[in-house]
This record gives sequence, C-alpha cells and structure tokens, in this order.
Amino acid sequence: KILLEVRGLCASVNGTAILKDLDFTVRSGEVHAIMGQNGSGKSTFAKVLAGHPAYEVTGGSVLFEGQDLFALKPEQRARAGLFLAFQYPIEVPGVVNSQFLRLTYNTVQKERGNEELDPLEFDDFVREKMQLLEMSPDFLDRSVNDGFSGGEKKRNEILQMALLEPRVAILDETDSGLDIDALRIVAHGVNQLSTRDNAIVMVTHYQRLLNYIVPDFVHVMDAGRIIKTGGKELALELEERGYEWVSDEYAAAQ
Ligand code: ADP
Ligand code: MG
Ligand code: MG
Repeated sequence: KILLEVRGLCASVNGTAILKDLDFTVRSGEVHAIMGQNGSGKSTFAKVLAGHPAYEVTGGSVLFEGQDLFALKPEQRARAGLFLAFQYPIEVPGVVNSQFLRLTYNTVQKERGNEELDPLEFDDFVREKMQLLEMSPDFLDRSVNDGFSGGEKKRNEILQMALLEPRVAILDETDSGLDIDALRIVAHGVNQLSTRDNAIVMVTHYQRLLNYIVPDFVHVMDAGRIIKTGGKELALELEERGYEWVSDEYAAAQ
C-alpha cells in the first residue's frame, strides 16, 4: 500500500529554489534512507512535508495515504499520521515535557477516536515508552528539550514517535550527536516501532546508522532531487566512494 507519493515536488525558501522536481514513493512496511551531501536539500524536503511555514511549494504534488498533503495544515498532517523528528529539535523553556507529550498524545488519540489519558494514566504509559529508549523519567519534569544534550533531544524526538505511532516517520539526522551506545539504543527503539503497516524514512549523512536500522532502499539526494536509488549496499558504496560519482553518473545520463 502506498503511504506517501511525491511527484515533481518543487519548493523554495526566501525566493530561492531548493527542491527541484523531486520524486519519492513510500509503501507500508518499508524503511528508506535518504543520503546526500550537506546542502543537498534533505532537511528542506522533510520540512516541506511537515508544513514548515518558511518553505513555499512551487510545484508538484504529495499524496499522503491518498489525500492531498498540502490541503492539510501542519497539525492536521501530524494527526493524520505523518511524523517528523527534526534535525535541530527546538527548546521550549517553561513548557513541562510530560504535559507537552500528553497534550500531543491526546490530541492525536482524540482525532483517531481513541480514549484520552489523564495525567496519572499517561505517566504509566510514557514511562514504559521511555524504558524502550533507556530514558530517565527525570526528563518528564523538565522543560521540553531545555538544556537537553544533542543526544537527549534526539531521544525525546523518538519518544514522541513512540507515543504517536505514525504511519510515516521521517527522522532527520536522528543519528547526529549520538554516541555509539545512544545510537544503538535509539536504533533499537526505532526498529521496535517499525511495523508492516508503517514506514520509516531516515535522513542521514552516515552509513553508521544503517548498520542498526537496515533500509530497504537508499536514495541519493543532490541539488534538490533524488538522483539515484539502490538497496542497502548503496550506502556502503557511498561511504567508500563519496557522492561525486553519483552526480557525474546522473549528469552523464541527462
Ligand atoms: P541538507 O539537509 O541536505 O544539508 P538543507 O535542506 O538544510 O540541506 O539545505 C538545502 C539548501 O537550502 C542549502 O543550500 C541551504 O543553505 C538552503 N536553505 C535552507 N534553509 C534556508 C533558509 N531558511 N534560507 C535560505 N536558504 C536556506
Ligand atoms: Mg519528475
Ligand atoms: Mg539537514
């Protein structure tokens, strides 16, 4: 079943075109990796899908489970089951993490016609999810991401994913800032959340993460479009040979 279908997507920021005719299809049960040099447009792609207001869609279409994604507001996209873990999670001083997480969780549950949880019920539920990520319950009482280390912010993002059970989860450089132990724990958590009914899209620079979360497809992004797709072995080849040969190959084929 097709969950996400991106066709000819073009988007710009501050009048500069960043995404240029990007095609990308995700089916249920699949794990995708999007790799590419710094500045190739990976985060832009993730943010356009999430509905970040700074980015203007100038062409193309995106269907999310058959519905026009751009007809949905950012919060409606999240409720519909699209999840984005940001490369740079924002700090929200003054907003208690447990309250933020419960509000986020309940909003989605309500939308899906499920029971909302009161603070006590939620506390049990969220602690169980935190164990999966080996996160201390202390993080519940702190302000959202406020003073969290890079790795702690990334875990808090994956905790949100664990609570929301999205259909499509896009993880933007969730591996950056994680030491090897944290990487293993986070990867284990993501693998536990991967099912036949959902899909995971990992944006990463490094092959390393893909040793732990094995992708079905590896895509190379360059200058705002996907210029090559392969299996997991492509990531190893990129690690060894870099990205330039892919761009050369693509240019030669045009
Ligand atoms: P990646 O995640 O692949 O490293 P990005 O999507 O962050 O790449 O950036 C793609 C390009 O878009 C870069 O050249 C970057 O400088 C530019 N860009 C991204 N956001 C903005 C912005 N808000 N204003 C101007 N340029 C931007
Ligand atoms: Mg096209
Ligand atoms: Mg990026």
